[in-house]
Amino acid sequence: MKAAVFKGAGQPMRVETIADPTPAAGQLVVEVAYCGICGTDLHSTREGPAMLPCNSVLGHEFVGEVVTLGKGLQGSWKTGDRVCALPFLSCGGCAACLGGRPFECASLSCIGLNAPGGFAEYVATSECNTLKLPDQLSTRDAALIEPLAVGLHAVRAGSLQAGQRVLITGAGPIGLAVALWARFLGARDVVVSEPASERRALALSLGATAVVQPGENLGEQFADVAGGPPDIVFECVGAPGLIQQCIDIAPRRGMLVPVGVCEQPDTILPFPALIKELSIRFAIAYTRADYETVIAMLAQGRIDASPMVTAVVSLDDMPAAFEALRSPSNQCKVLTRLAGR
Ligand SMILES: [Zn+2]
Ligand SMILES: [Zn+2]
Repeated sequence: MKAAVFKGAGQPMRVETIADPTPAAGQLVVEVAYCGICGTDLHSTREGPAMLPCNSVLGHEFVGEVVTLGKGLQGSWKTGDRVCALPFLSCGGCAACLGGRPFECASLSCIGLNAPGGFAEYVATSECNTLKLPDQLSTRDAALIEPLAVGLHAVRAGSLQAGQRVLITGAGPIGLAVALWARFLGARDVVVSEPASERRALALSLGATAVVQPGENLGEQFADVAGGPPDIVFECVGAPGLIQQCIDIAPRRGMLVPVGVCEQPDTILPFPALIKELSIRFAIAYTRADYETVIAMLAQGRIDASPMVTAVVSLDDMPAAFEALRSPSNQCKVLTRLAGR
């Protein structure tokens, strides 16, 4: 099969012919229709502790059709089933897997990180983490399930109540997904801080009630537009210093949910958080229940995240599009559409 293969930091991926995946027991092979490019993919192909080995195949935001069934499957799968999957190969039998929390499985491999991913014609998935797509949901819209599930998981972690004021730092795909769910779940103010004008416009189209500029006076700007401090702050940038700024902005007994991926050392002064009795609740990934909710809301037409997709490229064009995302651009979510479709 054709796949985009990581060739080391500083080099674009190369589209090569590699062996097709064969499904292990409890696995399915999916012919990939779309696979989104994620910020995590950029992180894990940069020099640093998270960098993947040479010849890895990335891509965890994939959707497609079942083409091969492994042995020992529990469900009634058939070839041609349109599916998405939590990008985890997991045992399927432990309490975490059975509870729909495969991210906590002791024998976890992550598809697109340490297991082959979806920037390829075919990808192997665990049956227990694979979900059928309803007929009403287009395959292309389904390509956004993964980032939407990250956003939903974060908003659930923040225990958002209808009527609360919410601040979101950053309007990348995750900040936008958080904005969409915060609005969906009834936040009275959904204020997004973001410097790039195209992303500010996207934030407004996906659920933000106001956008503000990041900077030292972020707290004052928030209070100006929302009439009070944020009950919940979602930090969706992942740069040093931002958790401290969010602590300083939060009110007494406020909630801070760091969602952005920060791989550099960061210092915080705990005292202001202590004085305010802040809750700080980190959030990563998603559960099967998050996926099921996203799928249902998309299929019922109750959310529309399609403005997030700013480009669709072929597998051959993906390596260049991927590298372009390393510099500031107007792109938000770039989907790879696999060859032959
Ligand atoms: Zn992702
Ligand atoms: Zn397990």
